[in-house]
Parts: sequence; C-alpha cells; structure tokens
Amino acid sequence: MNANLKLLIQDEIKRDGPMRLDRFMGLCNAHYYASRDPLGRAGDFVTAPEVSQMFGEVIGAWAAQAWMDMGSPSAFVLLELGPGRGTLMADMLRAVSGVAGFAAAARVHLVETSPVLRAAQGAVLKGYDPQWHDDLGGVPDDLPIIVVANEFFDALPVRQEVERDGVWQERLIAVDLTWNITPLSTEKVREVSPAREVVMAQLAQRMARGAAAGLVIDYGHAWSGFGDTFQAVKAHEYVDPLMHIGEADLTSHVDFEVLARVAADAGVHVEPLMEQGAFLKAMGVEARAAYLKGKGAANVEADLARLIAPEQMGKLFKVMVMRYGQ
Ligand code: SAH
Repeated sequence: MNANLKLLIQDEIKRDGPMRLDRFMGLCNAHYYASRDPLGRAGDFVTAPEVSQMFGEVIGAWAAQAWMDMGSPSAFVLLELGPGRGTLMADMLRAVSGVAGFAAAARVHLVETSPVLRAAQGAVLKGYDPQWHDDLGGVPDDLPIIVVANEFFDALPVRQEVERDGVWQERLIAVDLTWNITPLSTEKVREVSPAREVVMAQLAQRMARGAAAGLVIDYGHAWSGFGDTFQAVKAHEYVDPLMHIGEADLTSHVDFEVLARVAADAGVHVEPLMEQGAFLKAMGVEARAAYLKGKGAANVEADLARLIAPEQMGKLFKVMVMRYGQ
C-alpha cells in the first residue's frame, strides 16, 4: 500500500464525503502505472503481446491489410493506446517490414501517461521516432489513422451501482477504506464507465475525419449486463481491490456493447464482435506458429494455446474491429 496515496484519498473523503469508485480507481491506477513496469513474470500480469510475438505479428498483418484497403496512403497515423512495454507495436512493425511503403508511411503515435512505460516504449521503438501524448487530444487529425488498443480500456475507471430493495445506489468508499454497501449477490451490481465512453467517443470522432481502421482488444462481454467484475491483480494473484492502494492493477471487464454504440454514434462502422481465438485464427496465427516452430522457436504450441484456447485467452478476450471511410 502506498502510504502517501492512502492519505491523499482519505483526506479527500474527509473533505468531500465517501468516494466514487471511478475516482478511487483513477487515482490508484495513475500512481500504479506511473511508478513501475507492471508487465511480465516478475511483475503483476502478462498480456498477449508479452506471451508471444505471434500476437503482434498477426495484428501487424491486419494493419497492413487495413492500410492497403485505404489505398496505401503515403502518410498515416499508426496509433496505439496504452502500449505497455511497446512490444505489440514493435512486433507489428517488424512483421510487416516486408510490406513496401508501410513503415515509411507510418507516423507512430502513442497515448501513454506513465513515464516508466514511455521510457520502455522509446527503447524498443527507437528508429520509428514515436510521438507521445497524454490523451487523444494531441494526436494529429489531418491523416488517415490506424489504431490499436490492447488491454487499455479495462484499466480506465469504472463506477458501480448496487441494488437494494429495488433501488440502485452508488457504491462508495468510506474513509476507513471499506464499501458503503455490500451487494447481496453479483447480479445486484451494475457497472458503468463514463471514462471509457469519453475516450471511445474521442477516438471515434477522430476516426470519422477520414480513412480509419481500429482494433480494440480486451477482456469483457459482448452485451451489457449485471455483475461485479471489478478486480485487483498483484503478482499474478487476485487481491482485495481496496487494499494495496496504488500497488495493484485495478481493472474491470469491458462492456463492448457500450463501446460499439459510442463508436457507431460517431458514424464509425463496427464489425460484429469476435472472440480473440477466432480473430487470431482468421488472421492466420496457426500458420505463423507452424512457421516459427519450423524455425526452431521454443514454446510455440503452449504460447499459441494461451492466446487462442477457449479456456485461456481465446474466449474471454474480444476483438472489436472498426472502420471508417472504406
Ligand atoms: N497494451 C499493453 C499494456 C496494457 S497495460 C499490453 O498489452 O501489454 C495498460 C496500459 O495503459 C499501460 O501502458 C498503462 O500505462 C496505460 N494506461 C493506463 N491508464 C491510462 C490512461 N488513463 N491514459 C493513458 N494510458 C494509460
């Protein structure tokens, strides 16, 4: 637990009253991501790009196809939201280095707030001259755009409402860092994330200025529903989300129905949601695995299974493909 952050949160609660979950989650995650590289075996959690280079390679192929579908523009914004260690972007660019003109046309832009992770991204993307932004506001809006976001939206703050006797009440955090209300069952909880909707709206409005394609990949559900999915992960274990302030990764499942509606409202075309396993297979990940195995790469079978098997990341993770202007 970060003592300073805990005091800051408690002072705010003393001053303003019990704190909404999205405020708490925003403060905790800002500190959490700013102060460490949370990824990998030695960290708190492992993401698909960190499982295997195959993930980024296949997404690179998707991006190259999207670029060709736009008519191979000589300059375009290649944007990633929340790039972590920069592994996905580096794997994408390396995989499609054989696609004539793609890398030369790509202007790499990264939305990232963490100074630690910006440094990691700069190290692996040396040579691509990436430009960083705190939010979508500074991303150039006069070029075609291809955007990817993997495990980004789940980290943005969420609110919870709890039903008691037919009344939905905001779930709040008291000064002793306990909940004001405990749900009688998970069905009595609903989650909403104004923060995710705002970012999606900004992204979709940016996309709707010209030719655009986007991929949002995250764990979540296709349809809005009920349930408490707020979780904290530390050293690969689930922990109590109100303990370990600023020292655990706070997330919740992404409501893709809401994101798709927000994108569609801006005029962006959203394809039917796919499960990650089906998407990666459709994009040729098995052929890529066979190729890497033939080259003598280690662990290919196990890594492939981790990415596509239904009981691993294949089913829980969803892929939302967006297009505009083609
Ligand atoms: N996409 C990477 C990392 C996922 S972790 C991967 O798949 O490995 C979440 C990422 O989003 C981190 O890079 C984190 O610093 C960034 N992030 C979290 N909240 C953010 C915010 N509000 N604004 C910008 N970036 C944020």
